[in-house]
Amino acid sequence: MSTKRYLITPGPTPIPPEVAAAAAAPMQHHRSPEFRALLLETLVLLQRVFATENDVLLFTGSGTAAMESAVANLLSPGDRVVVASAGNFGERWVKLIGAYGIEPVLVEQPWGESLDPGRIAAAVAEAGTAAVFVTHSETSTGVVHDIEAIAAAVAPTGALLVVDAVSSLGGVELATDAWGVDVVVSGSQKALMSPPGLAFASVSKRARERAEHASLPRYYLDWKRSADSQVKGDTAFTPAVSIVVALRTALDIILDRGPANVWEHNRRLARGARAGVKGLGLGLFSPDDDSAAMVTALLMPEGVDGQECYTVLRDRHGIVLAGGHGPLRGKIMRIGHMGYMNEFDIVTALAGLEMALVELGHTPPVPGGGVAGATALFAAEPVPADG
Ligand code: PMP
Repeated sequence: MSTKRYLITPGPTPIPPEVAAAAAAPMQHHRSPEFRALLLETLVLLQRVFATENDVLLFTGSGTAAMESAVANLLSPGDRVVVASAGNFGERWVKLIGAYGIEPVLVEQPWGESLDPGRIAAAVAEAGTAAVFVTHSETSTGVVHDIEAIAAAVAPTGALLVVDAVSSLGGVELATDAWGVDVVVSGSQKALMSPPGLAFASVSKRARERAEHASLPRYYLDWKRSADSQVKGDTAFTPAVSIVVALRTALDIILDRGPANVWEHNRRLARGARAGVKGLGLGLFSPDDDSAAMVTALLMPEGVDGQECYTVLRDRHGIVLAGGHGPLRGKIMRIGHMGYMNEFDIVTALAGLEMALVELGHTPPVPGGGVAGATALFAAEPVPADG
């Protein structure tokens, strides 16, 4: 018998049984009338989740493909661009833009801090800035940056704003049109609780116009080719048909439940996770407030290596959490709470953490304290009848 597994990471996330069943449906041809209709419906549902009337372009690829599409379609050699970064995924923008031969101006803050809209606006205000690239949910630290404030600060400069919402879209509020975000990129495997393999980019009219003149090379990720196909219910290339079918089901679930209810669900799970981390006698690396709705990052106690803890949890208990990236490797562990998760995922993560810590020689101050902290919070904040 295979080991029972618990996937409690910030992506890929568990998928609901209906979504898994949809992914397993018999294959259909992507140029069939049935698939065209399904694709068009899916794109409309995506617009609702993106809170935009702009086209949402769909690519077969992981979230980074949509990030790369933004760079390749918006920029020309020699452009001045700004990247605001306070974590691993902010740094991904820097590397990606660098791979296209452009060295961005970096507005950097220590990992774990919130991006400062004023500092970003000051850097962007320099003459001729074409675009600014930021991250919404910085999955490596648990910080969800204030895109509304960043958009408001950048707006007067006229630069295009590009937001990586790979680990936030659908899980926390992102009012693309109302906040004036030009490009939002995301992926299927996190808060959208679908299998990995689809990437999305919502593109404003201004961004589309910029793309018409931008001269970096692109082919597979060309926005115009995708948009021209999508209006006809087509895709430029063979899409991951099964994942589109699965995503359609997942989007129905999310929209039936109501995005605001989903956001509150995630905040509640995060509150439980934080109460549990404190109950284990551990410190938080991610912010100790409702903004940290997608990922809780906890500090490893003195003398315990986070990677070892990760391995013990995975190999002895079948529980998959996430470790730390870059400078945080070994120092933190991350619990994801997005997509198809509930309070028992959080309780499982905390119970497993306590067991792994004990096995690694660190006994938390109160036996069962992590589970008790989370359970007390969940009991005190019961799920609403329709929630
Ligand atoms: N940006 C963020 C904020 C992410 O969390 C991730 C995935 N962890 C990515 C980008 C990259 O996405 P993918 O692995 O799907 O390419």
